[in-house]
Amino acid sequence: MSRVINFSAGPAVLPESVLRQAADEMLDWHGSGMSVMEMSHRGKEFIAIHAEAEALLRELLAIPANYKVLFMQGGAIGENAIVPMNLLRGKASADYIHTGEWSKKSIAEAKKYAKVNVAASAEASRFTSVPARETWQLDPDAAYVHICANETIGGVEYHFTPDTGAVPLVADMSSNILSRPVDVSKYGLIYGGAQKNIGPAGLTIVIVRDDLIGQAHPFTPSAFDYKQQADNDSMLNTPPTYAVYIAGLVFRWIKARGGLAAMAEHNRVKAKILYDYLDRSAFYSNPVARADRSLMNVPFRLKDEALDDAFLKGAQARGMVQLKGHRSVGGMRASIYNAMPVEGVQALVDYMKEFEAQHG
Ligand SMILES: *Cc1c(COP(=O)(O)O)cnc(C)c1O
Repeated sequence: MSRVINFSAGPAVLPESVLRQAADEMLDWHGSGMSVMEMSHRGKEFIAIHAEAEALLRELLAIPANYKVLFMQGGAIGENAIVPMNLLRGKASADYIHTGEWSKKSIAEAKKYAKVNVAASAEASRFTSVPARETWQLDPDAAYVHICANETIGGVEYHFTPDTGAVPLVADMSSNILSRPVDVSKYGLIYGGAQKNIGPAGLTIVIVRDDLIGQAHPFTPSAFDYKQQADNDSMLNTPPTYAVYIAGLVFRWIKARGGLAAMAEHNRVKAKILYDYLDRSAFYSNPVARADRSLMNVPFRLKDEALDDAFLKGAQARGMVQLKGHRSVGGMRASIYNAMPVEGVQALVDYMKEFEAQHG
C-alpha cells in the first residue's frame, strides 16, 4: 500500500495512525461487537465516545466553562445562516469583515437575515491582507462582528485576535481550528467544518458563549437552534456519529503530540520551509502580505501559467496530489494542515526546486 502526499484543501489528510486505529476498530469497537457506525447515538458506547471527544476538545482549546461545545451538521456554509438566525437577538444588523472568498459567502448569506455592515474590506489589496484593526468601522449596536480567521482559498490568516469591545466576535475557523492555541474567551462564537483540520466531512464544531444562546429567531429550525442543541447535548437530531468518533481520535492524536502549542510549532516549521523557498525563488510567487500569510493554505503561482499542467503532472508522478489552486483563482495551492508531516512539505519544495531548474 502506498499513500499519497495529500495537499487537499478539504476534505483533507488525516493522521495515518488515526486511520489505522479506525480500521482496527471498524468491525468491533472495544468489544461491543459493532462498528461505531452501527451504534445507537443514545447507547452507552456512543455517549462515551461523544463525551470523550467533547472533553478532549475542551482540554485542547482550554474552553472556559461558560461556553457550550456543539457537534452539529450543515458545515460552515450552513453556519453562515445559522449564526445570524441565532445571534441577532432582536438586533437589526451585524458587522462583517471581508477578507476573501469565504467571508464573501458569509456576507451574502447573512444578508438574507440581517442588515450587514461590511466594516472593513481587503478588496483594495485584492484580498491579499487582513485590514488593520484601526481601519474597521464597527457599529457598537451590531449583534456581532464576523471574521473568517483563515481564508482557505486566498491563503490569508489572522495572526491577531481583533478587539471588538462589548460586541461578540464570531469566527469561521473551518481551516485553522486546532492549528494553534486560541484564547476562546475573546470570542462569542467559533465555528468550523471538521473536514479541513479535524476529521471527516459532516461534522460542524460550534463553540458558543452561554449568554448568546436562547434568543434564536422563531423561524430557526430546531436542529439549528443552539439552545435546543445545547439542552440536548447536541443530540436533538442524530449527530454525525462516525465523524464525531474520528474527530475524537484526532483530538487524542493532537494531545499525544503535545497539544496546540506543539501543533503551532509544527505548523510554523512547515510553513516556513515553503514560504522561505517561495520568497527566494523568482519562478514562483505568493501574493499575500507577509504578516497575514496563512500557515494552513499556501497559494502560489508559477511564472508562466502555461507550465501549470506540467507542474501538476510531475507532482502527481511523485505522489503529490491536490495541488491545483481553487477554480476561482487558478494557480497552485498547498494545504498543509496539522496532519501534513514536515517531510511532505520538504518533498514538495524539493520537487519545486527541480521543476524550477528544468523550466526556470
Ligand atoms: C471549507 C470552508 C467553508 C465551507 O465549509 P462547508 O463545510 O463546505 O460548508 C467555509 N469557510 C471556510 C473558511 C472554509 O475553509
